[in-house]
Amino acid sequence: MVAEVISPEGGRWCDWKLSHWFDPPTCKAIKAIPLPRLPVEDKLIWHNTPEGIFIVKSAYHLAVTLDRRKGRWWSEVSWMDKASWIRLWEANLPPKLKVFVWKILNRMIPTTEALIAKDVLVLPRCPVCWAESETLEHLFLSCPVARALWDYSGLASLGEGLP
Ligand SMILES: [Zn+2]
Repeated sequence: MVAEVISPEGGRWCDWKLSHWFDPPTCKAIKAIPLPRLPVEDKLIWHNTPEGIFIVKSAYHLAVTLDRRKGRWWSEVSWMDKASWIRLWEANLPPKLKVFVWKILNRMIPTTEALIAKDVLVLPRCPVCWAESETLEHLFLSCPVARALWDYSGLASLGEGLP
């Protein structure tokens, strides 16, 4: 707890506790944090908004900023261009379906292949047909059950000619 490394009188860090618990660079970083001269009650503050209150929008902007610093941009996550994303988000579909499509296109569906890549212990087979590994392509296109559903829906011909 932070209060344990602040002197009982308040207003300054307790040097011997800091040096006992932390390495010198961490002690230096902690000591650089200013303390109030008078005792005040602790409270949680989200320092990415002027009000100090957490809102999801500010977390999104923080995530995007951090991604940019790493040289990535979210639109590069997938092969779709900006116009295609706009068409998806403006489509007359239920929001949860749009999010599901977005997850598929960003390869965020927990297929067995994706779970194995994250060291989750699962059988490396499609749990529906057991014929091959469950990749996104298998799950939605080549699994015999998926193909039967596409054929039954009458939409199978729409995908002809796609890679
Ligand atoms: Zn299958």
